[in-house]
Amino acid sequence: MPDSVNPATAETRKAFTRHDDTAVRHAIDNGARAFGDWRGRPIGERAKLMHAAADLLDARRETLARLATEEMGKRIAEARSEVEKCAWVCRYYADNAEDFLADSPRESSASRAFVRYRPLGIVLAVMPWNFPYWQVFRFAAPTLMAGNVGLLKHASNVPQCAQAIEELFLDADFPQGVFASLLIGSDQVEAIIEDDRVKAVTLTGSEGAGRAVAATAGDRIKPSLLELGGSDPFIVMPSADIEAAVETAVKARMINNGQSCIAAKRFIVHADIHDRFAEAMAKRFGDLAIGDPMDEDTELGPLSSADALDTLTEQVDALARSGATIMLGGKPVQRQGYFFAPTIVTDVPGDAPGRYEELFGPVAMLHRVGDIDEAIAIANETPFGLGSSVWSRDEAEIDRFIDEVEAGSVFVNQMVASDPRLPFGGVKNSGYGRELSREGILAFVNAKTVSVA
Ligand code: NDP
Repeated sequence: MPDSVNPATAETRKAFTRHDDTAVRHAIDNGARAFGDWRGRPIGERAKLMHAAADLLDARRETLARLATEEMGKRIAEARSEVEKCAWVCRYYADNAEDFLADSPRESSASRAFVRYRPLGIVLAVMPWNFPYWQVFRFAAPTLMAGNVGLLKHASNVPQCAQAIEELFLDADFPQGVFASLLIGSDQVEAIIEDDRVKAVTLTGSEGAGRAVAATAGDRIKPSLLELGGSDPFIVMPSADIEAAVETAVKARMINNGQSCIAAKRFIVHADIHDRFAEAMAKRFGDLAIGDPMDEDTELGPLSSADALDTLTEQVDALARSGATIMLGGKPVQRQGYFFAPTIVTDVPGDAPGRYEELFGPVAMLHRVGDIDEAIAIANETPFGLGSSVWSRDEAEIDRFIDEVEAGSVFVNQMVASDPRLPFGGVKNSGYGRELSREGILAFVNAKTVSVA
């Protein structure tokens, strides 16, 4: 049953009733009906509505931000920025969709040949709680602008955010059924994917959820897009600006209280600067103000749920049992709510399973390396391949990182961040497909080849 629990206090704020199978069928019926009309609307009309959604996001920024902070514990300032970014992605696709979807002429032996991009129909989005608005708008803005309709199964712990998004699209005058939120459990997802009227599915979340959803989609021969976990490397070489690297490292690890797929999680630091880097990072971690995420002065809030706290605690305990050194923290914070102390783990043995897992919280793993070959080998040793951040002033080194790090993105001398203008996605177990930019809107369209004799 979806419930809204404040992770800073562990109090249930609101209980929700699941949508049953009849309600789900009704939503799919509505979506299919809405698609018949929406697909034919001129793109300028869709853009006008998407701009209205952006304006409503701006107008409701404070209310929406507080809702997210109360439901999943992100710091209020980060929640506000998230809402602003959603307005950005709506405007970006409202302004660029026509260009992205324009017929694309091709050379062939026919008198005329081109590709026309047509929508598919209902696209199901299974979304996580960590960026409860951004993950949804990142999907919805391009998908709706392409003429598809969206059905959202949000994470069970953010039902109020889910409802607020549906309400926002309706208030922006999107026709009924073009975007709907279902309050359902993960056990109801399979039947939705199996419905013939649902044409594709996108999921952001854990590997397990990704495997389950992609397997069902594969069985029904429907396209899927997966944006799964990451254990992003953050590599620092001696030529880098070390002060800037440390400052950014702290930010990149602690973003969203450590619960971001593209947070830097493994810090791979050259031996010449390792100790200096580690000490500076420990000092900064130790100074972080832990507290209520609604308080503007808080620098680190709680994890999203009791389960998240248990999982992280067990992972860090397992690392310690395997022989790793806990340089800082390593335990939940003794206070109400689901807080974990800023933690640094070093000297993790190669045979410790935790070395290759995603740590979804304020825990940094530090690796000391002797040279660039070792840095790249460690960067590539996990099953993940989402983002990567590399710090160096040596062009030859930078070029090797760009070529050899197995990741969906390489950010040089800066932290990884998503941006509507840049494609976003991973390789290996971090998933497949790309969101955002031109690639994002082409994820769920039929690229129809037209050849005229
Ligand atoms: P989940 O992957 O379980 O949840 C993400 C979404 O998938 C939710 O809507 C969830 O629904 C749904 N879901 C879960 N299992 C299935 C399934 N078998 N079939 C269909 N839908 C499913 O993430 P958690 O919240 O449990 O977090 C666990 C771990 O996943 C984290 O510690 C982190 O490592 C990773 N994660 C990564 C994220 C990222 O941004 N890449 C985001 C969130 C988590 P419901 O909530 O109802 O279970």
